Amino acid sequence: MTIHQHEVLIIGAGMAGLRAAIEANKVADVAVLTKIFPTRSHSGAAQGGMAGALGNLDDDNWEFHMFDTVKGSDYLGDQDAIEIMCREAPELVYELEHMGTPFSRTPEGKIAQRRFGGHTLNFGEKPALRANYSADYTGHVVLHCLYDQCVKNSVRFYSEFLVTYLIIKDNVCRGVVAWDIRHGGLHVFHAKAVMFGTGGYGRAWRITTNAFANTGDGLGVALTAGLPLEDMEFVQFHPTGLYKSGILMTEGARGEGGYLKNKDEERFMKRYAPNLMELGPRDLVSRSIQTEIIEGRGAQTPEQKSKGIPGDFVWLDVTHLGEAKLREVLPQIFDLSKNFVGVDPAKAPVPIQPTAHYSMGGIPVNAAGRVVCDAKNTEVRGLYAAGECACMSIHGANRLGCNSTLDATFHGRQTGRTIARDIGNLTYEDLPPEAAQEAQAQIDWYYKATGKENLYDIRGDLQDTMQKNLGIFREAKGLEAQLQILGELKKRFSNISLKDKSQEFNTELQEAIELGNLLSFAETIVVGALARQECRGAHWRTDHPARDDAKWLKHTLAYREEGKIRLDYKPVVITRFQPKERKY
Ligand SMILES: Cc1cc2nc3c(=O)[nH]c(=O)nc-3n(C[C@H](O)[C@H](O)[C@H](O)COP(=O)(O)OP(=O)(O)OC[C@H]3O[C@@H](n4cnc5c(N)ncnc54)[C@H](O)[C@@H]3O)c2cc1C
Repeated sequence: MTIHQHEVLIIGAGMAGLRAAIEANKVADVAVLTKIFPTRSHSGAAQGGMAGALGNLDDDNWEFHMFDTVKGSDYLGDQDAIEIMCREAPELVYELEHMGTPFSRTPEGKIAQRRFGGHTLNFGEKPALRANYSADYTGHVVLHCLYDQCVKNSVRFYSEFLVTYLIIKDNVCRGVVAWDIRHGGLHVFHAKAVMFGTGGYGRAWRITTNAFANTGDGLGVALTAGLPLEDMEFVQFHPTGLYKSGILMTEGARGEGGYLKNKDEERFMKRYAPNLMELGPRDLVSRSIQTEIIEGRGAQTPEQKSKGIPGDFVWLDVTHLGEAKLREVLPQIFDLSKNFVGVDPAKAPVPIQPTAHYSMGGIPVNAAGRVVCDAKNTEVRGLYAAGECACMSIHGANRLGCNSTLDATFHGRQTGRTIARDIGNLTYEDLPPEAAQEAQAQIDWYYKATGKENLYDIRGDLQDTMQKNLGIFREAKGLEAQLQILGELKKRFSNISLKDKSQEFNTELQEAIELGNLLSFAETIVVGALARQECRGAHWRTDHPARDDAKWLKHTLAYREEGKIRLDYKPVVITRFQPKERKY
């Protein structure tokens, strides 16, 4: 097996990985491993913007941003980390501007800002203009800018390397093992410091905004290495995915003034968020849409109408904004909406439904970006994480729109700086020989497997059942059923075989490894959700219909031990804002 040595390894080339690489590369030899080409990372799909209280168009300030993030998190977010991020967000945005990100502009030439859900002025008084954007291509331009900076600074990239194994011994991280997708074969990467920036896992659901690559590999690999995952039961559904496919219609559409309407063309958000209306936080807006559908006010397709079937979507109406404005600030929605639902958004309302979008939980890290492995926050030496795969926890039980590109970029930078500080005290620790053997045995198993099951059927069944039993509304019955289903799916997975036995670009092998990861961490979501008998943020238990701070104002830690998930809990950091009832 080829062995490479780099002082710092960064797994993932999204906003988190690239921003960390720029920072760590200033003092150390850095390599970035990524399973897809860097600029194809899902960060590039971000449309709406990046939060930061610049106050270019109103009297915004970072304390309002902090308050909104805490309230949006349903008070589960750790306020020490939230405070640092919100305070420094404006400086981070200016830094991106100076690096070359082409933001949209106000008439005076300042960075343009739009409204986004849950972001308010004066602690909830009225919507704030806080989302810094570049039309509806914000992620694309930021990602390309960061990649340019990496290339300019000679960061080493290993593209199309799939990390399958994390080498930890005696609580010290020593490197990773990765599959060379292009040529086949495993490579060992020996390092002093490893950072995960492996992104989200929306592909565990049938209807999702997430790219095909978003299979939560980092979480699967970490869980197998004995690390816990934090707050996995909190999964965000974005309110406005295109009907059926779930492809994102940016929240920017509502930020610019779009309406949500039910089958009677009523702006139903007045019932759920009379103050902020369509600009309520995502958990609330998604639940409101689903409630309209459940209560029979969903809009219907002509076919549903003719057959008397209740409708299962609502309308996103931006027609009143006019074509000229839409073309300027939301150009992408024309293509998406025309190609995937056949509607011109300037002429007619667009059919939408909530869609799996973002993972609030992930690999537990402290505010410096160091991975911690228990409720006492014991650090794992040499291991770091940032971005969507990490849980700090900034977003608590529900993330506000535009806070994720900020989180990924900001904590990518912070964690890169932590690594740069730590690197002098870290050494190349011995590589345990069994690590490469175990990683090889995993791959050999796939090539030798002769079972009858088809992995794509198993993946489809996983996505359908997660959609049904771990949606916007949850209850014990469905969660228990899902736990059993996962057990059966895992049994079937142990009985697969690959049709493609080649080494080069074996996409079937890659998808099998990804499915193994999906099945592994999915269990932490279900077990955590079953245990948490309350409603908080995106976790809504219809059989326990209230938030319960006395029992549940705490973070979940889920470990895999002897094949089963064990849960533990740790306290939430509360500094400035005491938990209150959330009203919008
Ligand atoms: C359609 C869409 C629109 C969005 N819009 C917004 C928005 O407007 N504003 C906002 O704040 N947030 C938005 N988000 C969320 C936000 O974009 C993401 O949460 C954030 O960009 C994630 O960045 P990341 O660096 O953590 O991960 P990603 O950008 O997802 O990158 C993950 C990286 O990990 C690598 N990787 C994964 N597994 C492996 C493995 N096993 N081996 C090697 N490499 C691996 C991948 O190759 C990739 O490079 C949006 C998300 C989606 C899906």
